[in-house]
Amino acid sequence: MITFPLIQIRLHWLFAVLTATSLFLFHSLVNASPQYELVPVQIADNVWVVEGKRENFSRDNGGNIVNTAFIATEEGVVVIDTGPSWQYGKALHDIIRETTGKDINRVLITHHHPDHTFGNQAFDVEKLYALPGTISRLKADGDAFADNMYRMVGHWMKGTEVIVPPNQISPGKLTLGEHEFELFAMTGHSGADLVVMDHTSGVLFASDMVFFNRALTTPHTPGLRQWQQELEELNTMPFSLLVPGHGPISQDASPILQTSAYLDWLDTLLQESAEQGLTPSEIMSTPIPDQFSDIAEVRYELVRTISHLYPEYEKSALQALANDL
Ligand SMILES: [Zn+2]
Repeated sequence: MITFPLIQIRLHWLFAVLTATSLFLFHSLVNASPQYELVPVQIADNVWVVEGKRENFSRDNGGNIVNTAFIATEEGVVVIDTGPSWQYGKALHDIIRETTGKDINRVLITHHHPDHTFGNQAFDVEKLYALPGTISRLKADGDAFADNMYRMVGHWMKGTEVIVPPNQISPGKLTLGEHEFELFAMTGHSGADLVVMDHTSGVLFASDMVFFNRALTTPHTPGLRQWQQELEELNTMPFSLLVPGHGPISQDASPILQTSAYLDWLDTLLQESAEQGLTPSEIMSTPIPDQFSDIAEVRYELVRTISHLYPEYEKSALQALANDL
Protein backbone atom coordinates (compact mmCIF):
# COMPACT_ATOMS: atom_id res chain seq x y z
CA MET A 1 0.00 0.00 0.00
CA ILE A 2 2.86 2.35 0.81
CA THR A 3 4.73 1.67 -2.44
CA PHE A 4 1.75 2.23 -4.73
CA PRO A 5 2.12 6.05 -5.00
CA LEU A 6 5.87 5.61 -5.54
CA ILE A 7 5.28 3.26 -8.47
CA GLN A 8 2.80 5.74 -9.81
CA ILE A 9 5.37 8.52 -9.60
CA ARG A 10 7.99 6.34 -11.30
CA LEU A 11 5.53 5.46 -14.06
CA HIS A 12 4.86 9.14 -14.58
CA TRP A 13 8.59 9.77 -14.92
CA LEU A 14 9.01 6.84 -17.26
CA PHE A 15 6.13 8.10 -19.39
CA ALA A 16 7.59 11.62 -19.46
CA VAL A 17 11.05 10.34 -20.46
CA LEU A 18 9.62 8.10 -23.19
CA THR A 19 7.50 10.93 -24.57
CA ALA A 20 10.45 13.33 -24.60
CA THR A 21 12.66 10.74 -26.31
CA SER A 22 10.13 9.95 -29.01
CA LEU A 23 9.45 13.65 -29.59
CA PHE A 24 13.20 14.24 -29.92
CA LEU A 25 13.57 11.34 -32.37
CA PHE A 26 10.56 12.51 -34.40
CA HIS A 27 11.94 16.05 -34.47
CA SER A 28 15.38 14.80 -35.57
CA LEU A 29 13.88 12.66 -38.32
CA VAL A 30 11.78 15.51 -39.67
CA ASN A 31 14.65 17.98 -39.60
CA ALA A 32 17.50 15.66 -40.61
CA SER A 33 19.30 16.80 -43.74
CA PRO A 34 19.00 13.94 -46.19
CA GLN A 35 22.22 12.81 -47.82
CA TYR A 36 22.71 12.02 -51.48
CA GLU A 37 24.89 8.97 -52.08
CA LEU A 38 26.66 10.18 -55.21
CA VAL A 39 29.00 7.71 -56.85
CA PRO A 40 31.26 9.09 -59.58
CA VAL A 41 31.96 6.54 -62.30
CA GLN A 42 35.07 7.08 -64.39
CA ILE A 43 34.11 6.48 -68.02
CA ALA A 44 37.28 7.74 -69.77
CA ASP A 45 40.62 9.32 -68.88
CA ASN A 46 39.81 12.33 -66.66
CA VAL A 47 36.05 11.99 -67.21
CA TRP A 48 33.50 10.99 -64.56
CA VAL A 49 29.72 10.70 -64.61
CA VAL A 50 27.28 10.60 -61.70
CA GLU A 51 24.26 8.70 -62.99
CA GLY A 52 20.83 9.49 -61.57
CA LYS A 53 17.92 7.15 -61.05
CA ARG A 54 15.53 6.44 -63.93
CA GLU A 55 12.57 7.75 -61.99
CA ASN A 56 10.41 10.79 -61.55
CA PHE A 57 11.05 13.36 -58.78
CA SER A 58 10.08 11.96 -55.39
CA ARG A 59 10.64 12.37 -51.66
CA ASP A 60 12.63 9.12 -51.77
CA ASN A 61 15.13 10.09 -54.47
CA GLY A 62 15.43 13.81 -53.68
CA GLY A 63 15.30 14.59 -57.39
CA ASN A 64 18.48 12.62 -58.08
CA ILE A 65 17.22 11.51 -61.48
CA VAL A 66 19.76 13.30 -63.66
CA ASN A 67 23.24 12.62 -65.02
CA THR A 68 25.91 15.11 -64.00
CA ALA A 69 29.54 14.92 -65.08
CA PHE A 70 32.98 16.41 -64.57
CA ILE A 71 36.14 16.48 -66.63
CA ALA A 72 39.60 17.21 -65.20
CA THR A 73 41.74 19.38 -67.51
CA GLU A 74 45.19 20.94 -66.99
CA GLU A 75 43.39 24.20 -66.21
CA GLY A 76 40.95 22.79 -63.69
CA VAL A 77 37.70 20.88 -63.74
CA VAL A 78 34.79 21.43 -66.11
CA VAL A 79 31.50 20.50 -64.47
CA ILE A 80 28.42 19.67 -66.52
CA ASP A 81 25.21 20.44 -64.61
CA THR A 82 24.80 20.75 -60.85
CA GLY A 83 21.81 18.56 -59.96
CA PRO A 84 18.40 19.18 -58.39
CA SER A 85 19.17 20.90 -55.07
CA TRP A 86 21.74 22.79 -53.04
CA GLN A 87 22.36 19.61 -51.03
CA TYR A 88 23.09 17.66 -54.24
CA GLY A 89 25.37 20.45 -55.47
CA LYS A 90 27.35 20.35 -52.23
CA ALA A 91 27.74 16.56 -52.46
CA LEU A 92 28.82 16.89 -56.11
CA HIS A 93 31.30 19.64 -55.26
CA ASP A 94 32.81 17.43 -52.53
CA ILE A 95 33.25 14.38 -54.76
CA ILE A 96 34.79 16.51 -57.51
CA ARG A 97 37.45 17.77 -55.09
CA GLU A 98 38.00 14.28 -53.62
CA THR A 99 38.20 12.61 -57.03
CA THR A 100 40.29 15.11 -58.97
CA GLY A 101 42.08 17.17 -56.29
CA LYS A 102 41.71 20.14 -58.67
CA ASP A 103 39.95 23.48 -58.58
CA ILE A 104 36.89 24.03 -60.70
CA ASN A 105 37.53 25.99 -63.89
CA ARG A 106 33.90 26.40 -64.92
CA VAL A 107 30.44 24.92 -64.59
CA LEU A 108 28.41 24.47 -67.77
CA ILE A 109 24.65 24.39 -67.29
CA THR A 110 23.09 22.51 -70.19
CA HIS A 111 19.57 23.95 -69.84
CA HIS A 112 17.21 25.62 -67.38
CA HIS A 113 15.38 22.60 -65.96
CA PRO A 114 15.62 22.36 -62.15
CA ASP A 115 17.19 18.89 -61.98
CA HIS A 116 20.16 20.25 -63.97
CA THR A 117 20.64 23.64 -62.36
CA PHE A 118 19.33 23.78 -58.77
CA GLY A 119 22.69 22.68 -57.35
CA ASN A 120 24.28 25.94 -58.64
CA GLN A 121 24.35 27.44 -55.14
CA ALA A 122 27.12 25.04 -54.10
CA PHE A 123 29.50 26.46 -56.73
CA ASP A 124 31.27 29.79 -57.15
CA VAL A 125 28.67 31.87 -59.00
CA GLU A 126 31.35 33.52 -61.16
CA LYS A 127 32.14 30.10 -62.67
CA LEU A 128 28.60 29.34 -63.83
CA TYR A 129 28.05 29.46 -67.61
CA ALA A 130 24.97 28.86 -69.77
CA LEU A 131 23.52 29.71 -73.16
CA PRO A 132 21.72 33.11 -73.27
CA GLY A 133 18.40 31.31 -73.82
CA THR A 134 18.99 29.20 -70.70
CA ILE A 135 19.72 32.30 -68.62
CA SER A 136 16.55 34.08 -69.73
CA ARG A 137 14.40 30.97 -69.25
CA LEU A 138 15.76 30.34 -65.77
CA LYS A 139 15.08 33.98 -64.84
CA ALA A 140 11.50 33.60 -66.06
CA ASP A 141 10.67 30.11 -64.76
CA GLY A 142 13.07 29.55 -61.84
CA ASP A 143 10.73 30.51 -59.00
CA ALA A 144 7.86 28.42 -60.34
CA PHE A 145 10.26 25.47 -60.75
CA ALA A 146 11.40 25.93 -57.14
CA ASP A 147 7.81 25.85 -55.82
CA ASN A 148 7.20 22.69 -57.78
CA MET A 149 10.41 21.03 -56.58
CA TYR A 150 9.67 21.82 -52.92
CA ARG A 151 6.28 20.18 -53.42
CA MET A 152 7.70 17.06 -55.08
CA VAL A 153 10.91 16.32 -53.17
CA GLY A 154 10.22 18.17 -49.90
CA HIS A 155 13.00 18.51 -47.34
CA TRP A 156 15.76 17.59 -49.81
CA MET A 157 15.31 21.11 -51.17
CA LYS A 158 15.93 22.80 -47.82
CA GLY A 159 17.77 26.11 -48.33
CA THR A 160 17.89 25.74 -52.15
CA GLU A 161 17.70 29.03 -54.07
CA VAL A 162 17.55 29.70 -57.79
CA ILE A 163 20.99 30.90 -58.92
CA VAL A 164 21.07 32.21 -62.49
CA PRO A 165 24.46 31.79 -64.21
CA PRO A 166 25.91 35.26 -64.83
CA ASN A 167 28.13 34.16 -67.75
CA GLN A 168 26.90 33.57 -71.28
CA ILE A 169 28.53 30.86 -73.31
CA SER A 170 28.59 30.65 -77.10
CA PRO A 171 28.79 27.62 -79.35
CA GLY A 172 32.22 26.77 -80.75
CA LYS A 173 35.57 25.45 -79.60
CA LEU A 174 36.69 25.62 -75.98
CA THR A 175 40.31 24.74 -75.21
CA LEU A 176 41.54 24.33 -71.64
CA GLY A 177 45.20 23.29 -71.52
CA GLU A 178 45.48 20.31 -73.87
CA HIS A 179 41.80 19.53 -73.54
CA GLU A 180 39.58 20.36 -76.50
CA PHE A 181 35.83 20.72 -76.26
CA GLU A 182 33.26 21.81 -78.79
CA LEU A 183 29.97 23.36 -77.69
CA PHE A 184 26.72 23.19 -79.65
CA ALA A 185 23.60 25.27 -79.10
CA MET A 186 20.48 23.25 -79.79
CA THR A 187 16.81 23.83 -78.93
CA GLY A 188 14.79 20.61 -79.25
CA HIS A 189 14.27 19.70 -75.60
CA SER A 190 13.99 22.99 -73.73
CA GLY A 191 14.42 25.83 -76.26
CA ALA A 192 18.10 26.26 -75.29
CA ASP A 193 20.12 23.06 -74.94
CA LEU A 194 23.89 22.99 -74.63
CA VAL A 195 25.57 19.89 -76.03
CA VAL A 196 29.23 19.34 -75.17
CA MET A 197 31.53 17.25 -77.36
CA ASP A 198 34.76 16.43 -75.55
CA HIS A 199 37.09 15.77 -78.48
CA THR A 200 39.98 14.78 -76.20
CA SER A 201 38.16 11.90 -74.51
CA GLY A 202 35.65 11.19 -77.29
CA VAL A 203 32.72 11.61 -74.88
CA LEU A 204 29.58 13.35 -76.12
CA PHE A 205 27.53 14.97 -73.35
CA ALA A 206 24.18 15.11 -75.10
CA SER A 207 22.21 16.83 -72.29
CA ASP A 208 18.45 16.29 -72.33
CA MET A 209 18.50 16.29 -76.11
CA VAL A 210 18.90 12.54 -75.53
CA PHE A 211 17.12 10.30 -73.00
CA PHE A 212 17.90 6.59 -72.81
CA ASN A 213 15.59 3.95 -71.29
CA ARG A 214 13.81 6.75 -69.45
CA ALA A 215 10.91 8.54 -71.12
CA LEU A 216 11.73 12.00 -72.40
CA THR A 217 9.99 15.13 -71.10
CA THR A 218 8.43 17.73 -73.36
CA PRO A 219 7.06 20.76 -71.45
CA HIS A 220 9.37 23.29 -73.15
CA THR A 221 10.11 21.74 -76.53
CA PRO A 222 9.69 24.08 -79.50
CA GLY A 223 8.38 21.05 -81.41
CA LEU A 224 8.94 17.33 -81.66
CA ARG A 225 9.97 17.52 -85.35
CA GLN A 226 12.56 20.20 -84.62
CA TRP A 227 13.97 18.07 -81.81
CA GLN A 228 14.20 15.14 -84.18
CA GLN A 229 16.00 17.18 -86.85
CA GLU A 230 18.60 18.29 -84.34
CA LEU A 231 19.13 14.68 -83.30
CA GLU A 232 20.19 13.95 -86.88
CA GLU A 233 22.93 16.55 -86.49
CA LEU A 234 23.90 15.06 -83.12
CA ASN A 235 24.20 11.65 -84.74
CA THR A 236 26.93 12.93 -87.09
CA MET A 237 29.27 13.72 -84.20
CA PRO A 238 32.24 11.37 -83.85
CA PHE A 239 31.88 10.09 -80.30
CA SER A 240 33.11 6.92 -78.60
CA LEU A 241 30.82 7.30 -75.57
CA LEU A 242 27.53 9.09 -75.22
CA VAL A 243 26.20 10.47 -71.93
CA PRO A 244 22.46 11.18 -72.14
CA GLY A 245 20.78 13.65 -69.79
CA HIS A 246 18.91 10.75 -68.21
CA GLY A 247 19.68 7.04 -68.44
CA PRO A 248 22.75 4.88 -68.94
CA ILE A 249 25.92 5.75 -70.84
CA SER A 250 26.28 4.14 -74.24
CA GLN A 251 29.11 3.18 -76.60
CA ASP A 252 26.95 3.62 -79.66
CA ALA A 253 24.12 5.73 -81.03
CA SER A 254 21.31 3.63 -79.46
CA PRO A 255 20.19 6.47 -77.15
CA ILE A 256 19.91 8.89 -80.10
CA LEU A 257 18.02 6.33 -82.17
CA GLN A 258 15.66 5.48 -79.30
CA THR A 259 14.96 9.17 -78.59
CA SER A 260 14.37 9.82 -82.28
CA ALA A 261 12.06 6.82 -82.76
CA TYR A 262 10.07 7.76 -79.66
CA LEU A 263 9.70 11.37 -80.87
CA ASP A 264 8.52 10.09 -84.23
CA TRP A 265 5.90 7.85 -82.57
CA LEU A 266 4.71 10.68 -80.30
CA ASP A 267 4.43 13.18 -83.14
CA THR A 268 2.52 10.75 -85.36
CA LEU A 269 0.23 9.70 -82.49
CA LEU A 270 -0.66 13.29 -81.59
CA GLN A 271 -1.14 14.35 -85.19
CA GLU A 272 -3.34 11.40 -86.18
CA SER A 273 -5.35 11.67 -82.95
CA ALA A 274 -6.02 15.34 -83.60
CA GLU A 275 -7.10 14.59 -87.18
CA GLN A 276 -9.53 11.97 -85.84
CA GLY A 277 -10.82 14.37 -83.20
CA LEU A 278 -9.87 12.14 -80.25
CA THR A 279 -10.03 13.51 -76.72
CA PRO A 280 -6.87 13.71 -74.56
CA SER A 281 -8.12 10.89 -72.30
CA GLU A 282 -8.66 8.63 -75.33
CA ILE A 283 -5.01 9.09 -76.35
CA MET A 284 -3.72 8.64 -72.81
CA SER A 285 -4.87 5.01 -72.79
CA THR A 286 -3.29 4.23 -76.15
CA PRO A 287 -1.10 1.08 -76.09
CA ILE A 288 2.64 1.71 -75.79
CA PRO A 289 4.48 0.03 -78.69
CA ASP A 290 6.65 -2.95 -77.66
CA GLN A 291 9.88 -1.18 -78.55
CA PHE A 292 9.17 1.49 -75.90
CA SER A 293 7.38 -0.60 -73.26
CA ASP A 294 10.50 -1.09 -71.11
CA ILE A 295 11.33 2.63 -71.01
CA ALA A 296 10.96 3.91 -67.43
CA GLU A 297 8.10 6.36 -66.74
CA VAL A 298 6.78 5.98 -70.30
CA ARG A 299 3.05 6.09 -69.45
CA TYR A 300 3.49 8.93 -66.96
CA GLU A 301 5.42 11.05 -69.47
CA LEU A 302 2.97 10.24 -72.28
CA VAL A 303 0.15 11.69 -70.17
CA ARG A 304 2.23 14.80 -69.41
CA THR A 305 3.16 15.23 -73.08
CA ILE A 306 -0.47 15.01 -74.16
CA SER A 307 -1.43 17.72 -71.67
CA HIS A 308 1.46 19.96 -72.80
CA LEU A 309 1.36 19.50 -76.55
CA TYR A 310 -2.01 18.18 -77.68
CA PRO A 311 -3.81 21.57 -77.73
CA GLU A 312 -1.33 22.76 -80.41
CA TYR A 313 -1.91 19.64 -82.51
CA GLU A 314 -5.69 20.14 -82.19
CA LYS A 315 -5.33 23.76 -83.29
CA SER A 316 -3.31 22.74 -86.37
CA ALA A 317 -5.82 20.02 -87.27
CA LEU A 318 -8.70 22.50 -87.02
CA GLN A 319 -6.76 25.02 -89.09
CA ALA A 320 -6.11 22.40 -91.78
CA LEU A 321 -9.81 21.55 -91.78
CA ALA A 322 -10.76 25.23 -92.09
CA ASN A 323 -8.34 25.66 -95.00
CA ASP A 324 -9.94 22.75 -96.82
CA LEU A 325 -13.42 24.23 -96.54
ZN1 LIG B 1 15.37 18.78 -69.11
